[in-house]
Amino acid sequence: MAGQFPGLVTADRKPWHYLDSAATAQKPRVVIDAMARALGEDYATVHRGVYSRSAQMTLGYEAARRSVAGFIGGGEDELVFTRGATEAINLVAYSYPKKGRVLLSQLEHHSNIVPWQLAGWQVDVCPLTEDGRIDLDAAEQMLTPEHTMVAFAHVSNVLGSVLDAKRAAQLAHSVGAKLLLDGCQATPRLPVDVGEIGCDFYAMSAHKMYGPTGIGALWGRADLLESMPPWQGGGAMIDKVGFDETTFAPPPQRFEAGTPAITEAIAFAAACTFIDDAGRETIAAHERALCAQLREELARIQGVRVFGPADALGIVSFELSGVHPHDLGTILDEENVAIRAGHHCCQPLMEHLGVPATARASFGIYSAEADIAALMRGIDRTLKIFA
Ligand code: PMP
Repeated sequence: MAGQFPGLVTADRKPWHYLDSAATAQKPRVVIDAMARALGEDYATVHRGVYSRSAQMTLGYEAARRSVAGFIGGGEDELVFTRGATEAINLVAYSYPKKGRVLLSQLEHHSNIVPWQLAGWQVDVCPLTEDGRIDLDAAEQMLTPEHTMVAFAHVSNVLGSVLDAKRAAQLAHSVGAKLLLDGCQATPRLPVDVGEIGCDFYAMSAHKMYGPTGIGALWGRADLLESMPPWQGGGAMIDKVGFDETTFAPPPQRFEAGTPAITEAIAFAAACTFIDDAGRETIAAHERALCAQLREELARIQGVRVFGPADALGIVSFELSGVHPHDLGTILDEENVAIRAGHHCCQPLMEHLGVPATARASFGIYSAEADIAALMRGIDRTLKIFA
């Protein structure tokens, strides 16, 4: 598998133990090739189909929309291409017409906190269980008819905890609120079906799914998208423009002002196909097993604190006592091991955990036991240096 990913070697062609897939995943050759083709021999703009190359590219772009929507069980008219999950959440925060109280959780990424604050929502925070899950019993107690939105991470980017998304949807709906799921860490590693979950909005980022940066998607229920006004104006999102009055295209075009990220969309669809070919159940089982193994090996080291639940998916955060995560990250880099050290854009969660930062190892489809072995060797060396 690693052979399909040209990024997984160091500059001097040694294996690179890349354990930062939760930040961004490496790209397989099929995705790179799809993007290169779209930028090369297939390249033209879309939605201006008077010449055949552009008509062809428009078909490719709209086929990509169908693929990405289908990947999470949605319809093509419900899938808005955005710059990433961040923009997808901003779109809902600014454009959802019933702005009121939103229930977030203590483990949210900044991109599922700040947009709600900026757009003027009243933010409430659901606590976590002892082992680091969103406490849905607490959510049940906290939700009121004033809440018009619940916005939770489907999988935590720090703790790897997986939300019981179906129950979250039921709880939101029981008070008349909608559920937005931040699916950044779920779509690369879990089968996701928005219909089965019963959520109302779902945010995705392609670059965490073996696809390119600069593109993501917002899936939204058709009737909800229909009720939302545009949030950015420009070309491609209009029906008729006049100086006195402008009318807008229906969703999803209404939310895609300007020339879209055409080549990225095509590569995004290629990434979805890549994941589906590998099998999401297979990926989930693979990452669950690697997580369990790493958690077990870390637990054997004295002075290690491992965060998150035992059944965490794909992501393990930890702390070595007496070693700042940045120092660990720097020493590991000398061993060709890449981890993330910091607050992971989750400062409120760090505060809850009582740490300024954590070290985080996260897996992808290409991760293997050899990566864990290299990480453990590096941790061993670090502990000797700091002893
Ligand atoms: N939510 C979660 C859970 C994430 O892990 C990330 C990326 N770290 C984001 C949102 C933001 O994604 P992007 O920056 O790609 O829009």
